[in-house]
Amino acid sequence: MRVVSVVGTRPNLIKMAPVAAELARRGVEHVLVHTGQHYDAEMSRVFLDELGIGDPDHELGVGAAPPSEQTGRILERLAPLLRTLVPDIVLVPGDVTSTLAGAVCASQLELRLGHVEAGLRSFDRSMPEERNRIVCDQLADELFIHSPEAAGNLARESAPGRVHDVGNTMIDTLVALGEPIAARQAAAGLGLTRGSFILVTLHRPALVDGPLLSETLAQLSELARRMPVVFPVHPRTRARIGEVPGVHLCPPLGYLDFLSLVTDARGVLTDSGGIQEETTYLGIPCLTLRSTTERPITVELGTNVLLGLDPARIAEVPALIEQIAARPHRIPPGWDGFAARRIADVLLA
Ligand code: UDP
Repeated sequence: MRVVSVVGTRPNLIKMAPVAAELARRGVEHVLVHTGQHYDAEMSRVFLDELGIGDPDHELGVGAAPPSEQTGRILERLAPLLRTLVPDIVLVPGDVTSTLAGAVCASQLELRLGHVEAGLRSFDRSMPEERNRIVCDQLADELFIHSPEAAGNLARESAPGRVHDVGNTMIDTLVALGEPIAARQAAAGLGLTRGSFILVTLHRPALVDGPLLSETLAQLSELARRMPVVFPVHPRTRARIGEVPGVHLCPPLGYLDFLSLVTDARGVLTDSGGIQEETTYLGIPCLTLRSTTERPITVELGTNVLLGLDPARIAEVPALIEQIAARPHRIPPGWDGFAARRIADVLLA
């Protein structure tokens, strides 16, 4: 059996590392194709190294470009490769441009397609990720889900593939690297004590590409007068901001340093998808600066609260964190470190 995975971004690598490792353990041939959508060392190389993935088998090197051009370049470079590899199945994780392009390419070549993280919906089609998810789920033969509402979303859209409730591979990575994360002590390295600071990430177009950004940064400066604020800045966001008074800005962090900071933070303020899940698993309060989430289970069972797309609400962050910390929360089913095993079981069955 030959499995080809198509990845392109930081979260893609985090989601596929455990699948690659599990397939290797079972003696299944796994070919990793990296599109090059994320190409900075700090967005790609560090994850290949820290997550034990190593060098991709093939690099398409598409580089920075608007999504349509990126999609075109991926299709043009991936199609001849897939024709040569003739995989039994192509796996695509998540919801980024590389996911969409990998799915379309596999479909056009009439190869079996598996979507890892299928069925998530924000019901906000102004998000490129939402449109990518819908297309991938319609094309996929095998839909690997990790959240109970995903099955309902897929049924509502009459997605034709088979649904497998396998659990969350992003949490597999977190479980597998628990010890090196704990050993990292990244907060101490910044002179911060455990539970004393807020960790921030922001990179979605709705927040950083428009007029909300300047108010958000002003609110972060205000927040930093009340408690330390650490903000590893995504390259997309870096291009749009200068200094933010009082806020500790740093380049994007590697996986171990970042998760070490999440573990030690009093709370996290983010617009990320994956971080809503990691904070729920770790029991760290998470405030999501978005009006919707495709991960409602993190709000229902976990530690996530949606603030809305409303920077003024950043003023409420310290109080909300205390409220979340005081309420009960649970880890969703299947977020247990064994999702990749269940995916491999399905592939081998
Ligand atoms: N992450 C990281 N370093 C950082 C910021 C995030 O390793 O400086 C990790 C984070 O823990 C999560 C993933 O990157 O596993 C999320 O990526 P991102 O927020 O870019 O994408 P999204 O999940 O929103 O698609």
